[in-house]
Amino acid sequence: MININMNLETQFKQTLTKIKLNKKDKTLVALSGGKDSTTVAYLLKKFGYKIEGFHIDLGMGSYSEKCLEAVRKLCKQLNIKLHLYDIKDEMGSSMCYIRSAIQTEAKGKGLKNCAICGVIKKWIMNKEARKLKATKIATGHNLDDEAQTFFMNMLKGSPQLSANSGAITRNVKDKKFVTRIKPLFYIAENDIRTFSQKMKLPVVYEHCPCAIDSYRIQVRQFMNTLSTKEKENIMKNFDKIFPLIQRLKKEEKLNYCEICGEPSRNKICRMCQLVKVGK
Ligand code: AMP
Ligand code: ZN
Repeated sequence: MININMNLETQFKQTLTKIKLNKKDKTLVALSGGKDSTTVAYLLKKFGYKIEGFHIDLGMGSYSEKCLEAVRKLCKQLNIKLHLYDIKDEMGSSMCYIRSAIQTEAKGKGLKNCAICGVIKKWIMNKEARKLKATKIATGHNLDDEAQTFFMNMLKGSPQLSANSGAITRNVKDKKFVTRIKPLFYIAENDIRTFSQKMKLPVVYEHCPCAIDSYRIQVRQFMNTLSTKEKENIMKNFDKIFPLIQRLKKEEKLNYCEICGEPSRNKICRMCQLVKVGK
């Protein structure tokens, strides 16, 4: 057990060195209540980084209530500030409602639950982190998540979709864009689960009731048959071919969305494109 902890902590520190996280950075940890983001906050605090918590209450019934309770408990334990964003108060309805309105309107376009939720969460995080003058946003994405995404992009025949992936957002430098970091980028999900259980961290272990993207589930099932070493190799390959992937991508200038003013690669950001469909 001691070994697992040591390995995980060593890998975590190595990633922080790689992405050059500074003790002067003010890092907002995006806390979902799950094991990954909880572990990120716990370890960043343990290693003396300046962090605050940020949680989006998605208003999804008892699941969201449990997540909020876990996040509150964690921030109290770690003695860090918690910033709450209640989606019902801020946007008028729960994530389920916003998402199904978007899907009904965009019938046939195959917009997946997790994809919609992901766009909305990222938009909120960037805006709020900027308001709070955070210099980094940390999320709990782990090795399994990243290997899955990279693999799915390869299966789609579109490796260039991974050009913005990595333990740190590399390509985007803009005063309105807060750099995102993924300190668990190289750490396997199973090791994080073991660690969080052993440390008795307040965590909601159940999955989001809306995570029903069948293609991702299929890929995840296949990836679960791989060893950690093999998953690590997938991401090592990713790092090796990253310069090539970047070249496959067209040169893009960052604009500001004509509707909401947030940084965007297009005239209208993905969030506003979605919300427009849902109106
Ligand atoms: P997911 O897209 O649900 O797999 O979550 C990926 C990462 O986004 C998590 O590890 C968290 O860092 C962050 N995140 C997800 N849900 C929330 C939430 N409700 N509030 C704040 N951060 C979140
Ligand atoms: Zn916009």
